[in-house]
Amino acid sequence: MKNKTQRIPYVLGFLLWRFMDRKRISVLLIVFVLTGISCTSQTKQTHNKILLISFDGFRADYLSKTETPNFDVLVEGGVTSEGMIPVFPSKTFPNHYAIATGLYPENNGLVGNTMYDPDLDLMYRIGDREQVENPVWYQGEPIWNTVEKNGLKAGTMFWVGSEAPVQNMRPTFWKVYDGRVPNEARIDTVINWMTIDSPDQVDFATLYFSFTDSDGHRYGPESQEVVESIKEADKLVGYLISEMKSNDLWGKTDIIIVSDHGMYDLSQDRIIVLDDYINPDDITVVSSSPVLGMNVAPDKLENVYQALKTGEENYRVYKKEDIPERYHLKNHKRVTDLIMVADLGYFINTKDYFDRFPDRPTGATHGFDNRDKEMYAIFVAYGPDFKEGLKVKPFENIHVFELIANLLGIPSPGTDGNIDSVKVMLK
Ligand code: AMP
Ligand code: ZN
Ligand code: ZN
Repeated sequence: MKNKTQRIPYVLGFLLWRFMDRKRISVLLIVFVLTGISCTSQTKQTHNKILLISFDGFRADYLSKTETPNFDVLVEGGVTSEGMIPVFPSKTFPNHYAIATGLYPENNGLVGNTMYDPDLDLMYRIGDREQVENPVWYQGEPIWNTVEKNGLKAGTMFWVGSEAPVQNMRPTFWKVYDGRVPNEARIDTVINWMTIDSPDQVDFATLYFSFTDSDGHRYGPESQEVVESIKEADKLVGYLISEMKSNDLWGKTDIIIVSDHGMYDLSQDRIIVLDDYINPDDITVVSSSPVLGMNVAPDKLENVYQALKTGEENYRVYKKEDIPERYHLKNHKRVTDLIMVADLGYFINTKDYFDRFPDRPTGATHGFDNRDKEMYAIFVAYGPDFKEGLKVKPFENIHVFELIANLLGIPSPGTDGNIDSVKVMLK
Protein backbone atom coordinates (compact mmCIF):
# COMPACT_ATOMS: atom_id res chain seq x y z
CA MET A 1 0.00 0.00 0.00
CA LYS A 2 1.27 3.43 -0.82
CA ASN A 3 1.06 6.21 1.71
CA LYS A 4 0.55 9.90 0.90
CA THR A 5 4.26 10.72 0.56
CA GLN A 6 4.75 7.89 -1.87
CA ARG A 7 1.99 9.21 -4.12
CA ILE A 8 3.75 12.59 -4.59
CA PRO A 9 5.96 11.60 -7.59
CA TYR A 10 2.93 10.28 -9.47
CA VAL A 11 0.90 13.42 -8.82
CA LEU A 12 3.78 15.70 -9.94
CA GLY A 13 4.26 13.62 -13.05
CA PHE A 14 0.63 13.95 -13.95
CA LEU A 15 0.60 17.74 -13.48
CA LEU A 16 3.70 18.21 -15.66
CA TRP A 17 2.27 15.98 -18.36
CA ARG A 18 -0.94 17.98 -18.32
CA PHE A 19 0.59 21.52 -18.43
CA MET A 20 4.05 21.31 -20.12
CA ASP A 21 5.55 20.47 -23.50
CA ARG A 22 4.96 16.75 -24.06
CA LYS A 23 8.36 15.93 -25.62
CA ARG A 24 10.56 17.45 -22.93
CA ILE A 25 8.43 16.10 -20.23
CA SER A 26 8.51 12.44 -21.24
CA VAL A 27 12.10 12.16 -19.99
CA LEU A 28 11.16 13.82 -16.72
CA LEU A 29 8.20 11.53 -16.36
CA ILE A 30 10.35 8.44 -16.57
CA VAL A 31 12.45 9.86 -13.74
CA PHE A 32 9.37 10.45 -11.60
CA VAL A 33 7.98 6.99 -12.22
CA LEU A 34 11.31 5.45 -11.24
CA THR A 35 11.32 7.58 -8.06
CA GLY A 36 7.83 6.30 -7.33
CA ILE A 37 8.92 2.70 -7.75
CA SER A 38 11.90 3.20 -5.47
CA CYS A 39 9.66 4.79 -2.80
CA THR A 40 7.27 1.85 -3.02
CA SER A 41 9.97 -0.75 -2.61
CA GLN A 42 11.29 1.19 0.40
CA THR A 43 8.05 0.32 2.25
CA LYS A 44 9.12 -3.25 2.20
CA GLN A 45 12.51 -2.51 3.69
CA THR A 46 11.57 0.02 6.36
CA HIS A 47 9.62 -2.33 8.63
CA ASN A 48 11.41 -4.30 11.31
CA LYS A 49 11.33 -8.06 11.42
CA ILE A 50 8.88 -9.78 13.75
CA LEU A 51 9.41 -12.87 15.87
CA LEU A 52 6.27 -14.30 17.49
CA ILE A 53 7.05 -16.79 20.27
CA SER A 54 4.67 -19.02 22.23
CA PHE A 55 5.47 -20.72 25.52
CA ASP A 56 2.50 -23.07 25.87
CA GLY A 57 0.53 -22.81 29.13
CA PHE A 58 2.65 -19.90 30.48
CA ARG A 59 0.22 -18.30 32.88
CA ALA A 60 0.09 -14.50 33.10
CA ASP A 61 1.56 -14.45 36.63
CA TYR A 62 4.41 -16.91 36.04
CA LEU A 63 7.09 -14.22 35.74
CA SER A 64 6.43 -13.21 39.36
CA LYS A 65 7.20 -16.72 40.63
CA THR A 66 10.99 -16.58 40.32
CA GLU A 67 14.02 -14.66 39.09
CA THR A 68 13.83 -14.21 35.31
CA PRO A 69 16.73 -11.91 34.34
CA ASN A 70 16.33 -12.43 30.61
CA PHE A 71 12.58 -11.90 30.48
CA ASP A 72 13.23 -8.82 32.63
CA VAL A 73 15.28 -7.24 29.84
CA LEU A 74 12.23 -7.48 27.58
CA VAL A 75 9.72 -6.48 30.26
CA GLU A 76 11.68 -3.44 31.43
CA GLY A 77 12.51 -2.30 27.89
CA GLY A 78 9.17 -3.20 26.34
CA VAL A 79 5.46 -3.76 26.89
CA THR A 80 3.72 -6.32 29.11
CA SER A 81 0.11 -7.00 29.93
CA GLU A 82 -1.58 -7.90 33.20
CA GLY A 83 -2.72 -10.86 31.12
CA MET A 84 -3.70 -11.77 27.61
CA ILE A 85 -7.26 -13.13 27.52
CA PRO A 86 -7.59 -16.44 25.69
CA VAL A 87 -10.50 -17.45 23.48
CA PHE A 88 -12.95 -20.01 24.80
CA PRO A 89 -12.30 -22.90 25.28
CA SER A 90 -8.93 -21.99 26.80
CA LYS A 91 -7.21 -24.87 25.01
CA THR A 92 -4.05 -25.00 22.92
CA PHE A 93 -5.37 -25.42 19.38
CA PRO A 94 -8.26 -22.92 19.49
CA ASN A 95 -5.95 -20.30 21.00
CA HIS A 96 -2.93 -20.68 18.75
CA TYR A 97 -5.18 -20.56 15.72
CA ALA A 98 -7.10 -17.55 17.10
CA ILE A 99 -3.79 -15.73 17.53
CA ALA A 100 -2.75 -16.74 14.00
CA THR A 101 -6.00 -15.61 12.35
CA GLY A 102 -7.29 -12.87 14.66
CA LEU A 103 -10.60 -14.73 14.61
CA TYR A 104 -12.74 -16.30 17.33
CA PRO A 105 -13.24 -20.08 17.11
CA GLU A 106 -16.74 -19.74 15.61
CA ASN A 107 -15.15 -17.81 12.74
CA ASN A 108 -11.99 -19.84 12.18
CA GLY A 109 -13.31 -23.39 12.66
CA LEU A 110 -10.97 -24.51 15.47
CA VAL A 111 -13.63 -24.77 18.17
CA GLY A 112 -11.72 -27.31 20.26
CA ASN A 113 -8.66 -29.54 20.53
CA THR A 114 -11.05 -32.35 19.60
CA MET A 115 -13.93 -31.77 17.19
CA TYR A 116 -16.47 -33.58 15.07
CA ASP A 117 -17.53 -32.10 11.75
CA PRO A 118 -21.01 -33.36 10.78
CA ASP A 119 -20.67 -32.46 7.08
CA LEU A 120 -17.27 -34.07 6.65
CA ASP A 121 -18.16 -36.87 9.10
CA LEU A 122 -14.62 -36.55 10.41
CA MET A 123 -13.07 -36.29 13.87
CA TYR A 124 -10.18 -33.92 14.55
CA ARG A 125 -7.73 -34.82 17.33
CA ILE A 126 -4.46 -33.05 17.99
CA GLY A 127 -2.52 -36.33 17.83
CA ASP A 128 -4.05 -37.29 14.45
CA ARG A 129 -1.45 -36.04 11.99
CA GLU A 130 -3.66 -36.61 8.95
CA GLN A 131 -6.37 -34.29 10.27
CA VAL A 132 -3.95 -31.77 11.81
CA GLU A 133 -2.46 -31.39 8.30
CA ASN A 134 -5.85 -31.39 6.55
CA PRO A 135 -6.74 -27.84 5.41
CA VAL A 136 -10.51 -28.45 5.54
CA TRP A 137 -10.46 -27.78 9.28
CA TYR A 138 -8.83 -24.35 9.09
CA GLN A 139 -10.85 -21.28 8.11
CA GLY A 140 -9.79 -17.65 7.99
CA GLU A 141 -6.42 -16.37 6.90
CA PRO A 142 -3.41 -17.15 9.09
CA ILE A 143 -0.97 -14.26 9.44
CA TRP A 144 1.77 -16.14 7.56
CA ASN A 145 -0.50 -16.16 4.49
CA THR A 146 -1.18 -12.42 4.83
CA VAL A 147 2.58 -11.89 5.07
CA GLU A 148 3.26 -13.93 1.92
CA LYS A 149 0.35 -12.42 -0.05
CA ASN A 150 1.95 -9.01 0.49
CA GLY A 151 5.28 -10.00 -0.96
CA LEU A 152 7.01 -10.60 2.39
CA LYS A 153 8.37 -13.91 3.69
CA ALA A 154 7.24 -16.00 6.65
CA GLY A 155 8.77 -18.95 8.49
CA THR A 156 6.97 -21.05 11.11
CA MET A 157 9.07 -23.06 13.54
CA PHE A 158 5.88 -24.78 14.69
CA TRP A 159 2.46 -23.18 15.07
CA VAL A 160 -0.99 -24.71 15.05
CA GLY A 161 -2.33 -24.52 11.49
CA SER A 162 1.03 -23.97 9.82
CA GLU A 163 1.32 -27.60 8.73
CA ALA A 164 -1.81 -27.49 6.58
CA PRO A 165 -1.98 -25.72 3.20
CA VAL A 166 -4.63 -23.27 4.40
CA GLN A 167 -6.01 -21.29 1.38
CA ASN A 168 -3.79 -23.59 -0.68
CA MET A 169 -0.71 -21.72 0.55
CA ARG A 170 2.34 -22.38 2.73
CA PRO A 171 4.80 -20.11 4.50
CA THR A 172 8.21 -19.92 2.77
CA PHE A 173 9.63 -22.06 5.59
CA TRP A 174 7.62 -24.38 7.84
CA LYS A 175 8.09 -27.60 9.81
CA VAL A 176 5.91 -30.57 10.66
CA TYR A 177 5.40 -30.50 14.43
CA ASP A 178 7.92 -32.64 16.28
CA GLY A 179 8.04 -32.12 20.04
CA ARG A 180 11.45 -33.85 20.20
CA VAL A 181 13.31 -31.08 18.36
CA PRO A 182 15.58 -29.50 21.03
CA ASN A 183 14.51 -26.00 22.04
CA GLU A 184 17.84 -24.32 21.21
CA ALA A 185 17.77 -25.92 17.76
CA ARG A 186 14.36 -24.31 17.14
CA ILE A 187 15.90 -20.92 17.91
CA ASP A 188 18.91 -21.65 15.66
CA THR A 189 16.58 -22.52 12.78
CA VAL A 190 14.59 -19.32 13.09
CA ILE A 191 17.75 -17.17 13.37
CA ASN A 192 18.94 -18.82 10.17
CA TRP A 193 15.67 -18.07 8.33
CA MET A 194 15.86 -14.46 9.50
CA THR A 195 19.43 -13.92 8.33
CA ILE A 196 19.80 -16.24 5.32
CA ASP A 197 21.47 -14.43 2.43
CA SER A 198 18.73 -15.05 -0.11
CA PRO A 199 15.44 -13.52 -1.29
CA ASP A 200 13.77 -16.04 1.05
CA GLN A 201 15.06 -14.28 4.19
CA VAL A 202 12.00 -14.05 6.40
CA ASP A 203 10.31 -10.89 7.68
CA PHE A 204 8.06 -12.77 10.10
CA ALA A 205 8.78 -15.95 12.05
CA THR A 206 7.17 -18.04 14.80
CA LEU A 207 8.64 -20.20 17.54
CA TYR A 208 6.76 -22.62 19.82
CA PHE A 209 7.74 -24.41 23.05
CA SER A 210 5.51 -26.93 24.83
CA PHE A 211 7.39 -27.88 28.03
CA THR A 212 5.85 -25.11 30.14
CA ASP A 213 2.41 -26.64 29.44
CA SER A 214 3.38 -30.27 30.02
CA ASP A 215 5.13 -29.46 33.34
CA GLY A 216 2.11 -27.40 34.41
CA HIS A 217 -0.26 -30.31 33.67
CA ARG A 218 1.92 -32.79 35.47
CA TYR A 219 3.02 -30.93 38.59
CA GLY A 220 0.59 -28.02 38.88
CA PRO A 221 1.23 -24.27 38.53
CA GLU A 222 2.24 -23.86 42.19
CA SER A 223 4.94 -26.58 42.07
CA GLN A 224 8.71 -26.23 42.28
CA GLU A 225 8.88 -28.11 38.95
CA VAL A 226 6.97 -25.29 37.26
CA VAL A 227 9.38 -22.78 38.80
CA GLU A 228 12.18 -24.78 37.13
CA SER A 229 10.23 -24.66 33.86
CA ILE A 230 9.94 -20.88 34.10
CA LYS A 231 13.70 -20.68 34.68
CA GLU A 232 14.25 -22.91 31.65
CA ALA A 233 12.06 -20.61 29.55
CA ASP A 234 14.11 -17.67 30.82
CA LYS A 235 17.35 -19.38 29.78
CA LEU A 236 15.92 -19.86 26.29
CA VAL A 237 15.06 -16.17 26.13
CA GLY A 238 18.68 -15.46 27.16
CA TYR A 239 19.96 -17.73 24.40
CA LEU A 240 17.66 -16.03 21.90
CA ILE A 241 18.85 -12.56 22.93
CA SER A 242 22.52 -13.51 22.59
CA GLU A 243 21.94 -15.17 19.19
CA MET A 244 20.01 -12.15 17.97
CA LYS A 245 22.82 -9.86 19.07
CA SER A 246 25.52 -11.88 17.36
CA ASN A 247 23.45 -12.12 14.16
CA ASP A 248 22.68 -8.40 13.90
CA LEU A 249 18.96 -8.90 14.55
CA TRP A 250 18.84 -7.16 17.92
CA GLY A 251 17.31 -3.70 17.60
CA LYS A 252 15.94 -4.61 14.17
CA THR A 253 13.38 -7.15 15.33
CA ASP A 254 10.16 -6.83 17.30
CA ILE A 255 9.84 -9.80 19.64
CA ILE A 256 6.32 -10.74 20.76
CA ILE A 257 6.15 -13.44 23.45
CA VAL A 258 2.71 -14.90 24.09
CA SER A 259 1.04 -17.94 25.52
CA ASP A 260 -2.21 -19.65 24.66
CA HIS A 261 -3.76 -19.95 28.16
CA GLY A 262 -2.97 -20.40 31.85
CA MET A 263 -3.24 -23.39 34.18
CA TYR A 264 -5.15 -24.35 37.35
CA ASP A 265 -4.88 -27.19 39.87
CA LEU A 266 -7.26 -30.14 39.76
CA SER A 267 -8.28 -32.01 42.92
CA GLN A 268 -9.96 -35.27 43.84
CA ASP A 269 -12.24 -33.09 45.98
CA ARG A 270 -13.57 -31.27 42.93
CA ILE A 271 -15.13 -33.89 40.70
CA ILE A 272 -18.41 -34.08 38.81
CA VAL A 273 -19.68 -37.60 38.13
CA LEU A 274 -21.87 -37.64 35.00
CA ASP A 275 -23.79 -40.70 36.16
CA ASP A 276 -25.17 -38.66 39.09
CA TYR A 277 -27.30 -36.80 36.53
CA ILE A 278 -27.67 -38.81 33.34
CA ASN A 279 -27.02 -42.19 31.78
CA PRO A 280 -23.67 -41.75 29.96
CA ASP A 281 -24.86 -44.24 27.33
CA ASP A 282 -27.36 -41.60 26.18
CA ILE A 283 -24.63 -39.24 24.98
CA THR A 284 -21.68 -39.23 22.57
CA VAL A 285 -18.80 -37.39 24.16
CA VAL A 286 -16.79 -35.41 21.58
CA SER A 287 -14.52 -33.30 23.78
CA SER A 288 -13.55 -33.83 27.40
CA SER A 289 -13.47 -31.80 30.62
CA PRO A 290 -13.29 -28.89 31.39
CA VAL A 291 -15.55 -28.27 28.38
CA LEU A 292 -17.38 -31.51 27.86
CA GLY A 293 -18.96 -31.43 24.42
CA MET A 294 -21.67 -34.00 23.77
CA ASN A 295 -23.99 -34.94 20.96
CA VAL A 296 -27.32 -36.48 21.92
CA ALA A 297 -29.97 -38.30 19.85
CA PRO A 298 -32.80 -35.80 19.10
CA ASP A 299 -35.41 -37.77 21.08
CA LYS A 300 -33.23 -37.74 24.22
CA LEU A 301 -31.78 -34.25 23.99
CA GLU A 302 -34.37 -32.40 26.08
CA ASN A 303 -34.33 -35.01 28.88
CA VAL A 304 -30.53 -35.04 29.08
CA TYR A 305 -30.43 -31.26 29.09
CA GLN A 306 -33.10 -30.95 31.79
CA ALA A 307 -31.37 -33.51 34.02
CA LEU A 308 -28.05 -31.68 33.75
CA LYS A 309 -29.70 -28.29 34.18
CA THR A 310 -31.53 -29.37 37.33
CA GLY A 311 -28.34 -30.65 38.90
CA GLU A 312 -26.28 -27.67 37.75
CA GLU A 313 -23.66 -27.22 40.48
CA ASN A 314 -19.94 -26.66 39.97
CA TYR A 315 -20.59 -26.62 36.24
CA ARG A 316 -22.80 -24.88 33.67
CA VAL A 317 -24.70 -26.66 30.92
CA TYR A 318 -25.82 -25.03 27.67
CA LYS A 319 -27.75 -26.06 24.63
CA LYS A 320 -25.70 -25.07 21.61
CA GLU A 321 -28.02 -22.17 20.76
CA ASP A 322 -27.86 -20.81 24.33
CA ILE A 323 -24.08 -20.73 24.65
CA PRO A 324 -23.21 -17.22 25.91
CA GLU A 325 -22.34 -14.74 23.17
CA ARG A 326 -19.14 -13.80 24.97
CA TYR A 327 -17.71 -17.25 24.24
CA HIS A 328 -17.90 -16.52 20.47
CA LEU A 329 -18.37 -20.23 19.90
CA LYS A 330 -21.92 -21.26 19.16
CA ASN A 331 -22.15 -20.25 15.49
CA HIS A 332 -20.22 -23.17 14.15
CA LYS A 333 -21.37 -26.55 12.92
CA ARG A 334 -18.58 -28.27 14.88
CA VAL A 335 -20.01 -27.22 18.24
CA THR A 336 -21.91 -30.09 19.89
CA ASP A 337 -25.60 -30.22 20.88
CA LEU A 338 -24.75 -29.58 24.55
CA ILE A 339 -21.68 -28.35 26.35
CA MET A 340 -20.92 -28.70 30.06
CA VAL A 341 -18.40 -26.17 31.35
CA ALA A 342 -16.71 -27.16 34.62
CA ASP A 343 -16.18 -24.38 37.18
CA LEU A 344 -12.53 -23.46 37.73
CA GLY A 345 -10.63 -26.49 39.09
CA TYR A 346 -13.48 -29.01 38.64
CA PHE A 347 -13.19 -32.18 36.59
CA ILE A 348 -16.06 -34.01 34.84
CA ASN A 349 -16.06 -37.71 33.94
CA THR A 350 -18.08 -40.92 34.24
CA LYS A 351 -18.41 -43.18 37.28
CA ASP A 352 -16.71 -45.90 35.28
CA TYR A 353 -13.69 -43.62 34.77
CA PHE A 354 -13.37 -42.73 38.46
CA ASP A 355 -13.76 -46.43 39.40
CA ARG A 356 -10.96 -47.37 37.03
CA PHE A 357 -8.68 -44.49 38.08
CA PRO A 358 -9.46 -43.85 41.75
CA ASP A 359 -6.48 -41.50 42.23
CA ARG A 360 -7.54 -39.12 39.44
CA PRO A 361 -7.60 -36.32 38.63
CA THR A 362 -4.03 -35.31 39.34
CA GLY A 363 -2.01 -32.25 38.35
CA ALA A 364 -3.61 -29.29 36.64
CA THR A 365 -5.34 -28.26 33.45
CA HIS A 366 -6.85 -25.43 31.39
CA GLY A 367 -9.84 -25.05 29.12
CA PHE A 368 -11.97 -23.26 31.76
CA ASP A 369 -13.94 -20.05 31.28
CA ASN A 370 -11.71 -17.48 29.61
CA ARG A 371 -12.91 -14.89 32.13
CA ASP A 372 -11.04 -16.73 34.91
CA LYS A 373 -7.78 -14.85 35.54
CA GLU A 374 -6.03 -18.20 36.05
CA MET A 375 -6.58 -18.83 32.32
CA TYR A 376 -4.90 -15.56 31.29
CA ALA A 377 -1.69 -15.89 29.30
CA ILE A 378 1.62 -14.05 29.28
CA PHE A 379 2.24 -11.19 26.82
CA VAL A 380 5.61 -9.46 26.49
CA ALA A 381 6.59 -7.36 23.47
CA TYR A 382 9.98 -5.77 22.96
CA GLY A 383 11.72 -4.07 20.06
CA PRO A 384 12.25 -0.89 18.12
CA ASP A 385 8.51 -0.31 17.57
CA PHE A 386 7.35 -0.91 21.15
CA LYS A 387 7.23 1.59 23.98
CA GLU A 388 9.58 1.03 26.90
CA GLY A 389 8.43 -0.10 30.32
CA LEU A 390 4.68 -0.01 29.62
CA LYS A 391 2.17 -2.32 31.33
CA VAL A 392 -1.24 -2.56 29.68
CA LYS A 393 -4.59 -3.85 30.92
CA PRO A 394 -5.75 -7.35 29.93
CA PHE A 395 -6.69 -7.60 26.24
CA GLU A 396 -7.95 -10.41 24.00
CA ASN A 397 -5.51 -12.45 21.95
CA ILE A 398 -7.49 -11.91 18.72
CA HIS A 399 -5.88 -8.44 18.51
CA VAL A 400 -2.34 -9.81 18.06
CA PHE A 401 -2.95 -10.39 14.34
CA GLU A 402 -3.76 -6.70 13.81
CA LEU A 403 -0.69 -5.71 15.80
CA ILE A 404 1.56 -7.78 13.54
CA ALA A 405 -0.10 -6.62 10.31
CA ASN A 406 0.28 -3.01 11.44
CA LEU A 407 3.96 -3.47 12.32
CA LEU A 408 4.67 -5.00 8.92
CA GLY A 409 2.65 -2.32 7.13
CA ILE A 410 0.43 -4.86 5.40
CA PRO A 411 -3.36 -4.68 5.05
CA SER A 412 -5.46 -6.89 7.29
CA PRO A 413 -7.88 -9.25 5.53
CA GLY A 414 -10.43 -8.33 8.24
CA THR A 415 -10.45 -10.03 11.64
CA ASP A 416 -12.36 -10.00 14.92
CA GLY A 417 -9.57 -7.87 16.38
CA ASN A 418 -8.72 -4.22 15.90
CA ILE A 419 -5.55 -2.17 16.07
CA ASP A 420 -7.16 0.42 18.37
CA SER A 421 -7.13 -2.11 21.22
CA VAL A 422 -3.35 -2.50 21.07
CA LYS A 423 -1.87 0.56 19.39
CA VAL A 424 -1.13 2.14 22.79
CA MET A 425 1.81 -0.29 22.89
CA LEU A 426 3.45 1.24 19.84
CA LYS A 427 5.83 4.21 19.75
P1 AMP B 1 -3.32 -29.27 25.37
O1 AMP B 1 -2.57 -29.09 26.63
O2 AMP B 1 -4.07 -30.57 25.35
O3 AMP B 1 -4.24 -28.15 25.04
O4 AMP B 1 -2.28 -29.39 24.16
C1 AMP B 1 -0.90 -29.17 24.31
C2 AMP B 1 -0.12 -30.07 23.42
O5 AMP B 1 -0.32 -29.72 22.05
C3 AMP B 1 1.37 -29.93 23.64
O6 AMP B 1 1.81 -30.91 24.52
C4 AMP B 1 1.97 -30.10 22.26
O7 AMP B 1 2.76 -31.25 22.20
C5 AMP B 1 0.78 -30.25 21.34
N1 AMP B 1 0.98 -29.48 20.11
C6 AMP B 1 1.29 -28.20 19.98
N2 AMP B 1 1.39 -27.83 18.68
C7 AMP B 1 1.14 -28.93 17.96
C8 AMP B 1 1.08 -29.22 16.58
N3 AMP B 1 1.31 -28.26 15.67
N4 AMP B 1 0.78 -30.47 16.21
C9 AMP B 1 0.51 -31.42 17.14
N5 AMP B 1 0.55 -31.22 18.45
C10 AMP B 1 0.87 -29.99 18.87
ZN1 ZN C 1 -1.64 -24.92 25.42
ZN1 ZN D 1 -2.14 -28.08 28.06
